[in-house]
Amino acid sequence: MTAAPFPAQTAPDPRALEVLSRVWGYGAFRGVQAQIVQTVTDGGHALVLMPTGGGKSLCYQVPSLLREGTGVVVSPLIALMKDQVDTLRQLGVRAAFLNSTLSLEGVREVEQALLAGELDLLYVAPERLLLPRTLDLLERAPVALFAIDEAHCVSQWGHDFRPEYGQLHVLPQRFPQIPRLALTATADERTRADMLRVLDLHGAPQFVSSFDRPNIQYRVANKEGPKTQLLDFIRAEHGAGQPGGDAGIVYCLSRKSVEETARWLQSQGIDAVAYHAGLSPRERTLAQERFLNEEGLIVVATVAFGMGIDKPNVRFVAHLDLPKSMEGYYQETGRAGRDGLPSTAWMVYGLADVVNVRRMLSQSDAPEEVKRVEAGKLDALLTYCEAATCRRQVLLAYFGEELPGPCGNCDLCLNPPRVHDATREAQMALSAVIRTGNRFGAAHLTDVLLGRETEKVLAMNHHTLPTFGVGRDHDERFWRGILRQLTSLGYLNAGEHHGLSATGRARPLLKGEVVFQVREDSLLPRERVRRREARPPRSPIGPTDQPLFEALRQWRLGKAREQGVPPYVIFNDATLKVIAELRPSSLTTLGTVSGVGQRKLADYGDEVVQVVRDHLNGVPPTAPQERGAAANRAVLDLLGAGKAAPVAGGPSRPHPGPLLGDAPAAPTETVAEALREVRRTLAAESGVSAFLVFPNATLDLLAQRQPRSLDELTGLPGLGPKRTAAYGERIVQAVREVLGQ
Ligand code: ADP
Ligand code: ZN
Repeated sequence: MTAAPFPAQTAPDPRALEVLSRVWGYGAFRGVQAQIVQTVTDGGHALVLMPTGGGKSLCYQVPSLLREGTGVVVSPLIALMKDQVDTLRQLGVRAAFLNSTLSLEGVREVEQALLAGELDLLYVAPERLLLPRTLDLLERAPVALFAIDEAHCVSQWGHDFRPEYGQLHVLPQRFPQIPRLALTATADERTRADMLRVLDLHGAPQFVSSFDRPNIQYRVANKEGPKTQLLDFIRAEHGAGQPGGDAGIVYCLSRKSVEETARWLQSQGIDAVAYHAGLSPRERTLAQERFLNEEGLIVVATVAFGMGIDKPNVRFVAHLDLPKSMEGYYQETGRAGRDGLPSTAWMVYGLADVVNVRRMLSQSDAPEEVKRVEAGKLDALLTYCEAATCRRQVLLAYFGEELPGPCGNCDLCLNPPRVHDATREAQMALSAVIRTGNRFGAAHLTDVLLGRETEKVLAMNHHTLPTFGVGRDHDERFWRGILRQLTSLGYLNAGEHHGLSATGRARPLLKGEVVFQVREDSLLPRERVRRREARPPRSPIGPTDQPLFEALRQWRLGKAREQGVPPYVIFNDATLKVIAELRPSSLTTLGTVSGVGQRKLADYGDEVVQVVRDHLNGVPPTAPQERGAAANRAVLDLLGAGKAAPVAGGPSRPHPGPLLGDAPAAPTETVAEALREVRRTLAAESGVSAFLVFPNATLDLLAQRQPRSLDELTGLPGLGPKRTAAYGERIVQAVREVLGQ
């Protein structure tokens, strides 16, 4: 991608840096952020094209704090607004939203706060913004800027088109003087032109960032038993099924395979949930909320899942089926690692997938031109899958960006495959296709190449062909690999009943005018491939710091539950990682950590330092004391101390202390013993082994946390909804008995 047409870097405004450090606890702007903040703070308009996780939010949030009045953010995703507002409130920023989920009373309160100049940021759904009442209100209120998030929704070309976005031209018409900032992660030319037109941004600077996501490791493997491959991958590299396992998304093409895969993962003791458009809205919301609020949940989904999933610590995205295009692949894998920590984009595909998608495409009723465009997109994706050199280079090249050298963080860079000349074998395979009449599938073609006298071969008289048996030097797997690559690369076409036929591209290959290179890895037996596969560290954190990181995550989960927000709203993983490594023993040191701003230091500093201290002293982390904390909150509310403080220098909230009556915890070993007893009974009753009721790791966690209500059990690794429903009451009862309640 080309550099932004913008003057050379200027030194960041000290006022902006001060806000960045005081409110967010960040030491520096990333890339073009500083220039965007400067432009908008100075009253200019701008267009921002930045990949997911690039840091678009700060581009309008910082200027909103620096400029007079409220920053108004237009966002299409109502489900996300509460999350964004919660995140800002945690930072001490005065934020609110206006959308259809508010009561009339709620709307009035927000409107009054806006008119009184008491809001730093206001998130508005586009349909709400367009109401005459809202537009009139905004004319009377001090507005610092308009940020149009997901601005590509103005474009009819994209799949995210929103008619209300198309009407946002009221903004330049009615508020010409107020800065407009359009932000998106979709960068194609037609969409860009639409954004400029609808929002009247002609002549405004355009800030275009690189679309590379260096923390994502791209991997593609040959499909050979996809479920087992997936299980191996998530167990070995993402701690699936263990406490502290990673959150991830598994994409499948059909609803049926989504459900099957989710069920199968569950049967393997992995906390997984299905998501697709065929579920009821309630079920979908529930799955989405669990994904946001729990730590290690895996969502198995169709592409219906993901738009607006802002969870920053999705550690992997797995594809069990081919995406439709490179755009789709980039967008779906882009949901991994928004927080910048190491993450994996993992995919398996095989000949059957290639044949299927090609056939679906050729049989669709779409107009010829659309089909041609889609076929081209699919070809690009298949070329990516079959790449023999750095995948990231191929990916970025598709989006018009050139990476100067191999990335060092994809499967092909980490384990360079041997490439070898298979022109002769490719010719054999093509000739088998042509001589059998361009209509047989891979299985039969393989039989012909291997010289197998099957019933079908004999019936068709194919044992008399000159190609019969010419491929005996290789095995079945090899030939299926060759046929897949020939199909992926467009030498063969897949027609009805999976029949393969030679295309125009085949002729020069048959004549020996082009060389056919294959990657050896995809043709190697499975065991050998496996040993050569990339094995990055499972966790973004080193083994020595892992236990403290885990203790901090547990503390965070407790806090999040207490306040009814997702854990990452309290602190994100990147911040917890630095804390675990730095082990701060004082508030001063903790305050230097990126992501610890003034407000969070005041609210959580003492507790975090205590978690670090306890860990260093070998004290096991204690369970979140929900009931006690809730009581504390009630008392604090009565005292009027729970209200959000103003951004700067406000009084910090007093910490809930033991004075206010936390229930005492019991020794871990006593609780563990009681739980083992319950597990034995439950196992006997349901006729399964004890570890199937819940594994030892879960038992240890339960003993530490000592949950006293079903609520406190939710989301505990190793206890999915089914187990909680089946055993939850008995577990809670056992804990309460030990605690004498
Ligand atoms: P986007 O909206 O572009 O997908 P976000 O605004 O959500 O990205 O930012 C992604 C993550 O990067 C967030 O966790 C955010 O806090 C973090 N981040 C953004 N800018 C900075 C910065 N200058 N320093 C440190 N972290 C940052
Ligand atoms: Zn690479």
